Amino acid sequence: MSTLLPTSIVGSLPKPSWLAEPERLWSPWLLEGDALVEGKQDALRSAVHEQERHGIDIVSDGEQTRQHFVTTFIEHLDGIDQERKETVRIRDRYDAAVPTVVGAVSRPESVFVEDARFLRAQTDRPIKWALPGPMTMIDTLSDQHYKSREKLAWEFATILNQEARELQDAGVDVIQFDEPAFTVFHDEVQDWGVAALERAAEGLTAETAVHICYGYGIEANNRWKETLGAEWRQYEQSFPLLQQSSIDIVSLECIHSHVPLDLVELIRGKKVMLGAIDVATEQVETPEEVAAVLRRALDHVDADKLIPSTNCGMAPLARSAALGKLGALSAGAAIVRNELAEVSASLVR
Ligand SMILES: [Zn+2]
Repeated sequence: MSTLLPTSIVGSLPKPSWLAEPERLWSPWLLEGDALVEGKQDALRSAVHEQERHGIDIVSDGEQTRQHFVTTFIEHLDGIDQERKETVRIRDRYDAAVPTVVGAVSRPESVFVEDARFLRAQTDRPIKWALPGPMTMIDTLSDQHYKSREKLAWEFATILNQEARELQDAGVDVIQFDEPAFTVFHDEVQDWGVAALERAAEGLTAETAVHICYGYGIEANNRWKETLGAEWRQYEQSFPLLQQSSIDIVSLECIHSHVPLDLVELIRGKKVMLGAIDVATEQVETPEEVAAVLRRALDHVDADKLIPSTNCGMAPLARSAALGKLGALSAGAAIVRNELAEVSASLVR
């Protein structure tokens, strides 16, 4: 990617109101059968169009064909009883009724590859596809078979690697693994989390990314954030491990968070997808606000490694707010891109 400061969103965009009830997670589909297949494709097409129209450089599917970033992938796997729901505490934060692992897990067929091919056909820009990370997957399940979070994570890493290779063959340029669980389970991140993530990304020639955040802007997450104190230093645990890892890009939360920016220094050398758009508020940032965050980040990230992005997915937001935020992101990035161009031009003179 030759553009300096290429913009990209973390993943999801709100779905059109004719496809799923807006502004909620796990919103049920409002269509069925062939109409649902066609509706998802139309929504994906619209998500691509809006990203391009608002100047987003690395385009995603907006997660228009999936209900949820973790559970939709899990639903396609064998060894998991989708009907047997057990209540677990997700990321130590909120309870949810989740499916149960009852046997050896496997992926009988591709999950997202057809959708990725469809995305590839819609745009000439580089495309990014998000998958859940192994640790976040096991944290969204009740396991009655392996009885070991680590063992199950390794199984999922193998399955994710199969899917990722097929996504790459379908023309995906960046494959991203979402690991919000990395901000919670620090010992496991160290013991096997990063290793399982690397296993999921093994052998890929596409660029690889890991998204680590403090979650969607939903109430349970916002309440949890209030308990984290004035400085959020959770990244301090995972960043040195990721800096040493094979993963190319680290996606993190920044604007309006209490993450001390100097922690970004810990991943020096990696590309950084930096959250310059808040997903916990519908207030649309001004381009200048976005630019201010990016300028501060440039103290810790080389300019050719900075990818301006959102803090997290925008699925729960009102559609108009999300689209406004796309525009703010690219306008803010353009301000800083121009400043960098002026600096380098003045150095040449
Ligand atoms: Zn996130």
